[in-house]
Amino acid sequence: MSETLEATETLASGHTSTYTRNNPYQSSVRINDLLTAPGSEKETRHIELTLEDGMTYTPGDAVGILPENRREVVDEVLEALHMRGDERVLDHYKVDIDLDEALRTRLAIGKLERGRITQMHKLAPENEGLKALAGAENKARAEEYCYGREFIDLLHEFPGVITSPQQLFQVLARLTPRMYSIASSQALHADNVQTTVRVVRYDAHGRTRQGLASGHLGDRAPVGETMPIFLHANGNFRLPADSSAPVIMVGPGTGIAPFRAFLEERQATGAPGENWLFFGEQRRSLDFLYQHELEAMHKDGVLTHLDTAFSRDQAKKIYVQDRMQERAAELYAWLERGAFFYVCGDATRMAKDVEMALLDAIAKGSNGTLDHASEYLSRMKKDKRYQRDVY
Ligand code: NAP
Repeated sequence: MSETLEATETLASGHTSTYTRNNPYQSSVRINDLLTAPGSEKETRHIELTLEDGMTYTPGDAVGILPENRREVVDEVLEALHMRGDERVLDHYKVDIDLDEALRTRLAIGKLERGRITQMHKLAPENEGLKALAGAENKARAEEYCYGREFIDLLHEFPGVITSPQQLFQVLARLTPRMYSIASSQALHADNVQTTVRVVRYDAHGRTRQGLASGHLGDRAPVGETMPIFLHANGNFRLPADSSAPVIMVGPGTGIAPFRAFLEERQATGAPGENWLFFGEQRRSLDFLYQHELEAMHKDGVLTHLDTAFSRDQAKKIYVQDRMQERAAELYAWLERGAFFYVCGDATRMAKDVEMALLDAIAKGSNGTLDHASEYLSRMKKDKRYQRDVY
């Protein structure tokens, strides 16, 4: 989800939360459960965070989480800099804090970006190694260098360039919150907000790395722990105002999150509209996120259709768009009845493939060309009947 830097987070309901990314609410972790089973290649978690009275959200919104850098990584950076951590620095708001706190909560010492190298180079213009990676002319080489590396790798490769703690604010970007699609409806959970998080862990350049926020939630956010959060409205991802309109949702992996919120909302409010969910993951027995809830909703009729695609349960991969293709005629019939179509999850490949399958279903259903299907989809977009939350 895109991030904007407004001073307040305005909620769709018209309320303005007093809590923002700069003034977060100190929530506490209510639940932090593993959704995937042992043996899964994924570690996907269900997280519930407490809210204060008056904090409201709408299904489709996101929760912003302010993570902290890992203690071990902060210590490594201090060691590489030959600093202790009790040195005083001025943060982005000129607040006097110690370096340790700055490295934990203010500065992005994780995944390396090209801009950091360019900033380091400004501190040591004569450094040949930095010169070879800095600036627009070395973009490709710098990107290759950054891949899988973190700030600590840069410090080890170019020691002695940073000589005063305050220079870190010149070199490093600000630690920013991470936005997660909300997976719950406040109609059912008045005092908390829930989300679905895949913990990113990988080995690269001889080190074990983890995602900043997902790693924090995965390793350092047990029940009862404090977590600074704020609510973020996403007016471009909303259930239809007409609760009798049918809804088609495509959410593989953590893309399920907002659809769990949609379904809870429609169930809690007794919305008469039909609901159709396409969910995909690697293996049914290990990765079927929210399986029991979804199956119960299917049994109760809240979910008219629940179509699943478990990509690795057979020799040939099956994805959500394959299921859409199998169901093209009915999919088109739903669209003709005014269905709203939603996609959430991976932007790089999945969302594009799903759009192709959607166009294909429209073309087939209408006996038209792909051009005609594109026009049909453009009209749906204009009418806000095609909405995406992809990342
Ligand atoms: P995920 O990686 O999106 O996986 C969920 C299911 O989608 C799996 O069964 C996966 O199958 C399948 N899949 C893979 N490629 C697909 C495609 N082109 N079309 C449809 N389905 C496809 O779920 P997740 O682990 O919860 O990850 C969610 C988020 O992780 C993504 O939205 C994204 O932010 C990030 N991600 C990034 C990349 C990347 O390369 N940048 C890739 C994936 C995910 P198989 O794994 O068996 O192929």
